[in-house]
Formats: sequence, C-alpha cells, structure tokens
Amino acid sequence: MADNSSDKLSPGTRLVTAGRKPEWTGTPPEPGSVVNPPVWRASTHLYPDSKALKQGKPNEDGHFYYGRRGAPTQWALADALTALEPGATGTMLYPSGVAAIAGALLAVLRPGDVLLMTDNAYEPSRIMGRGLLKDFGIETRWFDPTDAAAFEAATCDRTRAVLLESPGSLTLEVQDVPALAATARTRGATVVLDNTWAGPLGFPALQRGADITVMSLTKHVGGHSDLMLGSASAGADYYGKLRRTAQALGQVVSPDDASLALRGLRTMGVRLKHETASALALAEWLATRPEVARVLSPMLPGSPGHDVWTRDFTGGCGLFSFVFKGKDAGARDAFIDALGLFGIGYSWGGFESLVTPVDPAGLRTASAWPLPGMDPADRFGVRLSIGLEDPDDLMADLVAGLAAWNAA
Ligand SMILES: *Cc1c(COP(=O)(O)O)cnc(C)c1O
Repeated sequence: MADNSSDKLSPGTRLVTAGRKPEWTGTPPEPGSVVNPPVWRASTHLYPDSKALKQGKPNEDGHFYYGRRGAPTQWALADALTALEPGATGTMLYPSGVAAIAGALLAVLRPGDVLLMTDNAYEPSRIMGRGLLKDFGIETRWFDPTDAAAFEAATCDRTRAVLLESPGSLTLEVQDVPALAATARTRGATVVLDNTWAGPLGFPALQRGADITVMSLTKHVGGHSDLMLGSASAGADYYGKLRRTAQALGQVVSPDDASLALRGLRTMGVRLKHETASALALAEWLATRPEVARVLSPMLPGSPGHDVWTRDFTGGCGLFSFVFKGKDAGARDAFIDALGLFGIGYSWGGFESLVTPVDPAGLRTASAWPLPGMDPADRFGVRLSIGLEDPDDLMADLVAGLAAWNAA
C-alpha cells in the first residue's frame, strides 16, 4: 500500500521517495540504512518454528510468505508505482506489458462478454482479442479511436470491458478518455487503459476515468532497454480482482528486474522532459519538410487531438510518427537505412533513439488508413522514439535519411 502522506508531494519528488520504505531499505536495528531496496533473491521464507509457520500471512501484501507473492524488492516497485498513480490502491507487476494487458482483461472478462477495443491498439492486444480471448468465449469488437458516437453505438448489454490506448503507440490518435469512460460506465463496463505512452506523470489515468491503468514498464520506467516488465494499477475494487487473477495465473517478476525498474524510475521525470522537448522540436521541424505529408503527434500544435491532449495531459514523451509524401516502402526503407544514430528495432522509451517502419493498413478494422484528410498516396511512415542524444545531432541524422528518401 502506498504511503498516503506521499500524496502531498509533487510527482517529481515522489519519483525520488516512492517505494523506499525504511523496512525495505535496511534491517533492524537500522531500517533505512541504504538508499535503494536491495535485491531480495528469495523463494523461501524460513520460520523459526512450527507455530510461526502456522501464523504466516499467506496472502497479505507486505508479508514475506513465499517467493511467488514477491519480496521487498518487487513490493517496493509496486508501491512506488501506486504512489505515482493518483487514486490507486495497489499495483500488480507482470513479466511484460503484454502480460499486464492479459492480466487486466482476464480479471474482468468472462465467457459471453464483449470487449470493445480501440482500433489503434498495440498489435499484441489485437491478437489477444482475436486469439486467447476468443478461445475463452469472449468477443472483441473494434471501434474508431476518435469517434465517440461510434463507440457509444458499439456498446451493448454484453459489453463488460473497454480497452483504450491513448495516444495509440503507432498512429498516435488521442482518445477522449473521460468521455469514453463515462459512456462505458453507463453500460457497467470496466475501462482498461494502456497508458504506456504518457505514464502517470503525463496522464493520471484513474483520475481521468480509467478503472485499471496498464503500463509496459519495458518502455519509460525501465528506460534503458535492458528489461521486460509490466504493471496494472487500480483502486480498491479492481486491485483485488487484479491480484486474485495474477495470483491464479502464477504471475511473479524477478527481483533483479524490479530493482532495475526502480533505478529507471528515479530518472524517468528528467528523461521524459528531455525526450519530450527534443521530440517536439523535431516534430515541428519535420512538419515543415517537403518530404513529410503528416506528422502524427498530439503534442504538435494544430494536430488532430492536440486540443484533447492539452486538456487532459500533463506531460508527453519522445514517441511520434510521420508519414512520407507519396513514394513507396522502398524509399521509406532507404530513409531508415541511412540513419546512423537511430537504432532499427522494436520497443521505445529507452535512452537511445529508435526508428521502426509504420504500415498500419493491415492492422485496422474499424477505422481508415491513411487517416481522414490524408492523401491515399501517403501511406508509408516511420515511428521515432527520441532518446537522450542532442536533438541537433538527431536532426542531422534525419536530414541524411531524407536525402536518401529523395534519392530513392
Ligand atoms: C510495448 C508495448 C506494450 C507491451 O509491452 P511489453 O513489455 O513489450 O510486453 C503494450 N502496450 C504498448 C502501447 C506498448 O508500446
């Protein structure tokens, strides 16, 4: 459980203090004697005698009982994430972001239920809807992320949960989460938000209407491209459901990964600030380039969704996409291959910049690609994850990439 006194602190300060309970950062008689919760590698709790074993607390947070319930290193990470999420009672940890999405959806959906999923959702979320959930008798229906009326029309008596992702991590459409959540609530449906893009510093999800907020900690929290983890945070009702489901599925994360994630968390605020400023500068510059048809970023003034973004978000990140003016996938690939500072690879949110191709056409069923208002010839894009390099160096790299696109 998070320390309520932390609610008074600003998020930047909470990033420093969260999860560092004295009993997790030292042992009697010197609690709090080290800065970071040590890595507790432990499966087994040893009891002094049979009576103590019988009095063990098998299923209470914060009591070491058996390794699958975690140990102080994992508790410290969960506690820190709870402290950063206004309105959260608790956080469950998962071995990946996808496992967190599965953990949240399986906590609230049962056979016969309908899940409404935003059409810009992360591809493995779509695959989960078509595969695992379908096999369990749960029907997934997709809706246009920016069409609130279509969303309302898509709800029905069997709608039990909604999966939102705002902005979508490929095409970056922002959703009106408070409005969609209000509609979902009239249907008694649980609102699950994949909040990996903004995280709690940029979008206080539970305050904006989500019931469960999910993150891939692999991205901004880890921040160094060296771990896989996920989380789901919620208020009291849903935290209980998340916990029961995660325990039933045997979910547990390694203390080493939890420790790395705690280390990443401490610097997440300054990293995000730097990455957001660089991304905005590069997005503004790209929007002026003749090779670029559309920059996809709600942070960019004048972009679709910018009004909702300024209304609802308190911060951004370094992830955005852009679409080339005409040409083909080959020219786009020439752009990618000409880059020197951007690594070519999946994932994002690390300290190093990355680029990936964006071809969402085959990934949408309820909304158009290219987006409304775009020329149908402008279909090939890239996604950039802006890291901590100097933005001038990144811009010079992008100039070289655009030259290769022009030559292709
Ligand atoms: C990466 C990602 C995930 C999945 O996270 P993993 O840790 O890679 O399993 C989920 N949602 C979004 C938006 C992502 O970008």
